[in-house]
Amino acid sequence: MTSLTEGDGLARADRPPIFDGHNDTLLDLYLPERGGGRTFFECGEAGHLDLPRAREGGFGGGFFACWTPPDPESGWTEESALSLTEDGYEVADAPPLDPLYARKTANGLVKILFELEAESGGQLKIVRTAQELASCLREGVLAAILHFEGAENLGPDPGALEGLYEAGLRSLGLVWSRPNAYGEGVPFRFPASPDTGPGLTDAGKELVRECNRLGVLVDLSHLNERGFWDVAEISEAPLVATHSNAHALCPTTRNLTDRQLDAIRDSDGMVGVNFAVAFLREDGQDEEDTPLETVVRHVDYLVERVGIERVGFGSDFDGAKVPREIGDASGLPELLGALRDGGYDAEALSKLSHENWVRVLRRTWRR
Ligand SMILES: [Zn+2]
Repeated sequence: MTSLTEGDGLARADRPPIFDGHNDTLLDLYLPERGGGRTFFECGEAGHLDLPRAREGGFGGGFFACWTPPDPESGWTEESALSLTEDGYEVADAPPLDPLYARKTANGLVKILFELEAESGGQLKIVRTAQELASCLREGVLAAILHFEGAENLGPDPGALEGLYEAGLRSLGLVWSRPNAYGEGVPFRFPASPDTGPGLTDAGKELVRECNRLGVLVDLSHLNERGFWDVAEISEAPLVATHSNAHALCPTTRNLTDRQLDAIRDSDGMVGVNFAVAFLREDGQDEEDTPLETVVRHVDYLVERVGIERVGFGSDFDGAKVPREIGDASGLPELLGALRDGGYDAEALSKLSHENWVRVLRRTWRR
């Protein structure tokens, strides 16, 4: 969906810029066979996000994840690990990564983001403070947060965080959906509880404190429930899940239970609504023909539970199948239109679109 006919979605003048909690676009650029060989600066057909489609859809920036895929040598793939159950599915546990492979891949992904910034001629900036983020959104410069999805990217020593912080890292998911030296992620299961295994290791607890000390956001998406409660107990920052939905509406391990949502609310944190159809739909099916109203229902539920100040978007662009009506970043105005039709006024849409992210990041980064 690269061109909008008049009357579709929210009119351009009424659209607040969207700042987004999660994309996997760097991996598409790192692995051309995954990304369809596209570049970031030309409008592509494959995948979800590039600069022209961001401009078209009012995508003002987001968390750019460095996610290290399973080592091809491990033989593990999501497809081969998937088995259907009576009422859903389960994916066999992904193996831990070889630390050298993880570091090498992460370095490659980080390098790509810095190259994008250098080649953008001022159109993309890696932001390090909430003030920089706010001014990028105001001036129409695409704001990118350097984010690690899985702390194996650091290596096994939490002390490595400081050097990465100096380089620009501002957000860290302790785990992806697999174990590492710091904790355990949730395996993908439906229907199932996110309480799938042990909490954080001592190194994981130390890493949370180190994130607090430096002002790095700790992302709770993909973490299992016991790990979540460990972070809730240790962390002095708002609790944030960058790309997760409501377990009450779609009971996958990747979504947040009501108790978790209450803890997020009490910490004045936030949730980025994930557009992955498998984490939206009541039946958990990975089916693109999913109405926009399904996204609106999760927004409604989350707003009711945690408050309009604590919900934003976490698209999972280039990491998941999204509803056909969104299609890619250029389709975001459709979602804003559906939310407006669902009763969200201009003030509420601004909060959901970016204001909440800016507020939570300002509190977390303290600058
Ligand atoms: Zn993810």
